[in-house]
Amino acid sequence: MSSELLSYSEAATIVASFARGLSRSRLAVERVRLSNSTGRVLAESIVADQDQPAFARSTRDGFACRAAEASAQGFLPIAGATHAGEAPAGPLPGGAMWEIMTGAPVPAGADAVVMIEHVEREAERVRLLSKRSIAAGDNVVVQGAQARQGDELVSAGAVVGSAQIALAAACGFAELAVYKRPRVAILTTGDELVPVDQETGPGQIRNSNAPMLAALVVAAGGEPRVLPTAADTAAALDAALRHAIDADLLLISGGVSAGKFDLVEPALARMGATFHFTGVRIQPGKPLVFGEVPRREERPLPFFGLPGNPISSAATFLLFAAPVVAALAGATEVGPRFVSAQLSRATDRNAKRGLTRFLPGLCDFNPEGGGLPQVATVPWHGSGDLPAFARSNCFVVLSEELSSLDAGTMVRILML
Ligand code: AMP
Ligand code: MG
Repeated sequence: MSSELLSYSEAATIVASFARGLSRSRLAVERVRLSNSTGRVLAESIVADQDQPAFARSTRDGFACRAAEASAQGFLPIAGATHAGEAPAGPLPGGAMWEIMTGAPVPAGADAVVMIEHVEREAERVRLLSKRSIAAGDNVVVQGAQARQGDELVSAGAVVGSAQIALAAACGFAELAVYKRPRVAILTTGDELVPVDQETGPGQIRNSNAPMLAALVVAAGGEPRVLPTAADTAAALDAALRHAIDADLLLISGGVSAGKFDLVEPALARMGATFHFTGVRIQPGKPLVFGEVPRREERPLPFFGLPGNPISSAATFLLFAAPVVAALAGATEVGPRFVSAQLSRATDRNAKRGLTRFLPGLCDFNPEGGGLPQVATVPWHGSGDLPAFARSNCFVVLSEELSSLDAGTMVRILML
């Protein structure tokens, strides 16, 4: 077991390469209704059942024409009309226009659609207004321009969102094949913890990490299984770990710092664990542990030992455990997804050099007057401050390299 602390990026690289190494081929697959597929990971690609569009489609209400003829700007007779939902009509006779609605098939022979706002109409004749022009291809999406029948449009491993649902529906998929969600065991440790539905005695606190981690696991694409809290004794931890052994991933909260009752690492070591790292130069979350426990018939059980302070647990989950959950769920992109924002006020680094900090922040994504997202750290009393955490919507990344934290500095943020 190495006690050397890795930098944030070293630890993130180890986790990312572990996640990449997880093979999707052995994941179980199930079929779900399209309406229940949000957030699931595709196990089979979405394939075009026909050309898209399946017919040359008008993108405007107006008049289908031959652009060269309409460009002469003389009056042309209206030879017919096609509404959306009508079968392709036509062909368009020479020297004529064809009334057409958005989404309707463009008649054969036409190569453009003049917008209704760009014509002058006189009884059954129309002409292009003199200050307007039209070119072949305008306002027409030709058959197959977006996709050809049989094309793979979204690959296995993509997370299903609204756009993928719309595309699947357009291609006639009433159900999707998705990977089964990975089972993520959540083991909270600590003699001070009582369940949410119990009164706290002197020195006790409610177990907030169990429901928080369960929510984070769901958001990352996993299926949480909350185990009974383990007391701070070697025997209790040994028994609890044996219960967790059939999960796809194990999250242990608490008991990983250097305190006298931080017994998690020794318990894992007794199970024969390999430790990929046992500390990261981040704040909060420095005591984070990542490793694997060998199993007789299955691949080893990956685990994270998350520091017990709630904000440390949340930060280390999002930075390190969420990518592993996503990979176990079959996702190709496993994150974390950082975005850029501008510090709205000067920020105190307030920590030793050599640590990457992840501070609860509140980002205004739509600042008055437009402009870049503006972020500020939320005043807090350390990584147990749940009220401050609940007022934040992101973590602000203060990396080791940032020299200035003046207002206006661009920083990365991690969304909550
Ligand atoms: P530990 O990592 O076990 O040293 O715990 C660090 C701090 O987090 C202590 O103040 C604990 O009381 C607190 N803590 C540990 N586990 C939980 C939990 N499940 N829910 C809320 N707070 C916790
Ligand atoms: Mg503890």
